[in-house]
Amino acid sequence: MNKEVKLEDIVSLAKRRGFIYQGSEVYGGLSGTWDYGPLGVALKRNIMNLWWQMFVEDRDDMYGVDAAILMNQKVWQASGHVDTFTDPLVECSNCHARHRQDKLEDANKCPTCGQTGTFGEARAFNMMFKTNVGPVADESSISYLRPETAQGIFTNYKNVVDSFYPDLPFGIAQQGKAFRNEISPRDFVFRSREFEQMEVEYFVHPEKWEEAFEQWRKDIEVFLDKLGLPRESVEEVEVPENDRAHYSKRTIDYEFAFPHGKDELLGLAYRTDFDLGNIQRVSGKTMEYRVKGSDETFVPHVIEPSFGVERALMAVLTSAYREDEQNGEKRIYLALPEHLAPVKYAVSPLLKNKPELVEKAREVYQMLKKKYGAVMWDDNGNIGKRYRRQDEIGTPHCVVIDFQTLEDGTVTVRDRDTTEQRRVEATVLYQ
Ligand code: ATP
Repeated sequence: MNKEVKLEDIVSLAKRRGFIYQGSEVYGGLSGTWDYGPLGVALKRNIMNLWWQMFVEDRDDMYGVDAAILMNQKVWQASGHVDTFTDPLVECSNCHARHRQDKLEDANKCPTCGQTGTFGEARAFNMMFKTNVGPVADESSISYLRPETAQGIFTNYKNVVDSFYPDLPFGIAQQGKAFRNEISPRDFVFRSREFEQMEVEYFVHPEKWEEAFEQWRKDIEVFLDKLGLPRESVEEVEVPENDRAHYSKRTIDYEFAFPHGKDELLGLAYRTDFDLGNIQRVSGKTMEYRVKGSDETFVPHVIEPSFGVERALMAVLTSAYREDEQNGEKRIYLALPEHLAPVKYAVSPLLKNKPELVEKAREVYQMLKKKYGAVMWDDNGNIGKRYRRQDEIGTPHCVVIDFQTLEDGTVTVRDRDTTEQRRVEATVLYQ
């Protein structure tokens, strides 16, 4: 990995090349929100699809769901979020800036105005966005934008068991938006107020949680490899008991070497029967699982791997970002794994004012597009400029159609990482 990747390099590339823009930018922005441009949405989807394929489609013990973002307020009362989903908030009496106390470098010094001793007592700030459902705004219509996708899984556990009666262990997976009113959104998309999660709740026999936990550690490693993250940039950090959520008996935070420093990429937690137990208690409905062919019943325990899409995307960009020199000039390129690249092939005619070249190039373009979908037509500027642009967005192959193509059907294919060019029969590319 390129050790000196700076956050501003990633932010500037992301904006310049149409990956990620500030949310509501034309109106001065909205803090903690981001909009994905054409290439960003493609990269994000490729990451999410990879996850879905590996953790849902390729397995026979997993069930996907897509629950509503708005849920009955009882969900968040039972889960403990209404009372305890808080961060410690301090306000500076000098400049009135508000900060998250546990993320301050110096707990006594305001990072905004530099004064010390200006913070009073921290207060617990609840991070859920509150709203009302329906035309009457009263206590009974209160709802929240979900701060995690997990609860939409737990509330559907019984439905999935009743419809499919899966053997234990089995998992339910969900991808989708989550919202947290973070006190200080920062570090680009790393800490946003609206973001996306990919979560699995894996239901196990209470005595078998340890083996499932170990298996998840292995599966996570495989996924991180597929994202192209170098092993040495990820560290498993065992969370000590006093730092763990009260319901968790074991948690590993996976920390990645982001440009802003080592920070949480994803979490793996053993959540015991905390959530299903709460649902059972508050709803009055049984969450017990009966083992097939026996009278043994119990509330399953849960292992939860919880991935954040934005953090995965930032880790992917950080790992792929490269600078080198080509013909005496600085070059920036993204060495993305091919399966994640937003564009797989870029196709150009050598000269755009030669109709016979354009026509042939269009033909090759159409054939490649049919095969790969993510293929870009690029005839802007000279070939050198096109290569530059494609390098910056991580396109692995650039195909150029020239006069020789008209004679023998061969094209030039240029490799992003080595910049080497080879001549191949065009048909070989899309057969
Ligand atoms: P942090 O300590 O960084 O606030 P957390 O421990 O509260 O994170 P979890 O509640 O474990 O986060 O959420 C699971 C995953 O969701 C995180 O590992 C992360 O990938 C993602 N995530 C959480 N909060 C945010 C956020 N504000 N912006 C982007 N991703 C987030």
